[in-house]
Amino acid sequence: MTGGSKPERDDEYFMNVALTLARESRTEDVPVGAVVVVGGEIVGKGVNQGRIRHDPTGHAEIVALRMAAEALQNYRLPKSVLYVTLEPCFMCFGALLESRVSRLVFGAREPRRGVTGSLYDLHNDPRLTHRVEVVEGACAEESAALLREFFEKKRGRENGSGMRSVPSSPGRSFPQ
Ligand SMILES: [Zn+2]
Repeated sequence: MTGGSKPERDDEYFMNVALTLARESRTEDVPVGAVVVVGGEIVGKGVNQGRIRHDPTGHAEIVALRMAAEALQNYRLPKSVLYVTLEPCFMCFGALLESRVSRLVFGAREPRRGVTGSLYDLHNDPRLTHRVEVVEGACAEESAALLREFFEKKRGRENGSGMRSVPSSPGRSFPQ
């Protein structure tokens, strides 16, 4: 939660942009959206597209970072903020470090793969030379609701088409 003052373009504002991207993606990929912001301007956007693009690196964060780096013509993105609707995985956190993102804001937690609070606390590892400030919980409920809806629909389709049904997991987890 951001709390406190409410400038017009705050964390909630940019997280809502990321959420809208996720909502509009409507593919077979898990709906996750990300934006990269520098100086209050969006310079990169991305949604999960690993399945449709046959790309194991096609996570929303990577797509957004690639676009931002291309836009700024720089593989380093100092003073940038990455907003993503779901807690990042190892790969994406690695990309955050490589690109020198200074701040990460994420929505829902990812209990099985998240590395900034769930599975690991990589952002607090003192051995890493680059520090990323991490803020969690912006629009977390909306983000989690979107993912729940996606998996419920997916289960419905799989059951309806006679495919082997996927047992519903008791915990909330959102494998990408
Ligand atoms: Zn990832």
